[in-house]
Amino acid sequence: MNVAGSTLLPREPIKSVCSAEVNPSAEEEHQPNPWKEATEEEWDDWRWQLRHRVTRAEPLKLILNLSPEEIEAIEASKGRMATAITPYFAKLMDRNDSNCPIRRQAIPTMAEFHLSPADLFDPCAEDENSPVHGLVHRYPDRVLLLVTDKCAVYCRYCTRRRMVGSSEKCITQEELDEAVAYIQATKKIRDVLISGGDPLLFEDDHLESILAKVRKVPHVEIIRIGTRVPVTLPQRITPSLTSMLKKYHPLWISIHFSHPKEITKEVRRACAMLAEAGIPLGSQTVLLRGINDRPVVMKRLMHELLKIRVRPYYIYQCDLAMGTEHFRTPIAVGINIIEKLRGHTTGYAVPSFVIDAPGGGGKIPVGPTYMISQDKGKMVLRNYQGKVFEYQEPRNNGS
Ligand SMILES: *Cc1c(COP(=O)(O)O)cnc(C)c1O
Ligand code: SF4
Repeated sequence: MNVAGSTLLPREPIKSVCSAEVNPSAEEEHQPNPWKEATEEEWDDWRWQLRHRVTRAEPLKLILNLSPEEIEAIEASKGRMATAITPYFAKLMDRNDSNCPIRRQAIPTMAEFHLSPADLFDPCAEDENSPVHGLVHRYPDRVLLLVTDKCAVYCRYCTRRRMVGSSEKCITQEELDEAVAYIQATKKIRDVLISGGDPLLFEDDHLESILAKVRKVPHVEIIRIGTRVPVTLPQRITPSLTSMLKKYHPLWISIHFSHPKEITKEVRRACAMLAEAGIPLGSQTVLLRGINDRPVVMKRLMHELLKIRVRPYYIYQCDLAMGTEHFRTPIAVGINIIEKLRGHTTGYAVPSFVIDAPGGGGKIPVGPTYMISQDKGKMVLRNYQGKVFEYQEPRNNGS
């Protein structure tokens, strides 16, 4: 891989930012706005948002005080994993603070061009577990169907950055038919997870044609969609989309959230519409250094998710994707977050913390240990407060 020279900049300790302030202050309303010509109707239209994605530093300079390093990195990201940010998501960024959690997720820094010896091109060996193009078959009973390389906003820590954000290709009709033929022929597959890129960037009828093909396979019990669009482009969730989706039940949706600041009134509305279409909603969150690695921030995110009827599903240890070392935390940080959640708050607010095994072993859960010892069926346990309890197992093995 072609790396931009000696661009590793001294890394300052990153301050965790968790500003609760989402609404622009009165002062910010008077700042220059590159989208001031947009009517309210246009702003609320997902196609307008997508057409006006920011890919260059110039329009961003109007709303953010970009550092020279950020400007350089935006230019350098062209042709690799591009910079693309919906106007909606850009407006959530803090004008002055380059450590703003929204800003750090979407605006590249030169640290991205530094490779660590641990970095992997395909961190979870998805390509090796791909029987046909676009399909990853790792677990016997379920498959991952990658239908597009395009996202509304490119997350700088993306685990699929090897494929996402450069060509914006989507699966061809022939490739889709081959993938569906594989699912059809593999009777053990009872769960199809449609992801990418972001499947919700397709027009309703295009997405429907994929759902309909998958739904036709008799042994497919559930369909899942993995998406970040409800967060980065909430305008995409429309009544026509939800009434189409609900024809393909049981359909589950996993939404990628990173920070409580992402939960705006637009996101609340989008999730309410999906929930009201009867779609069970789960969240997936990548643990990110300086963005959501403090237990208080993660706890607030989990609480906000429950309020919008999204059940926290996974927190991921950040994968070993190329140029993402600056986003990674020690694994102990994630374990400590679970320790601070379990027992201390609603059980529904506690996701599983998983490491997607490098090389392709699937998701491995890690967490605090509550079992202290086990001797002749006498279990010694500790609770969330550290108090010790004993449980005697049945002596006759329960028979
Ligand atoms: C994450 C993943 C799945 C789904 O895993 P669940 O634990 O069932 O959500 C399936 N296939 C692949 C390749 C995955 O990475
Ligand atoms: S939305 Fe998902 S696939 Fe797209 S850039 Fe972000 S992490 Fe990658």
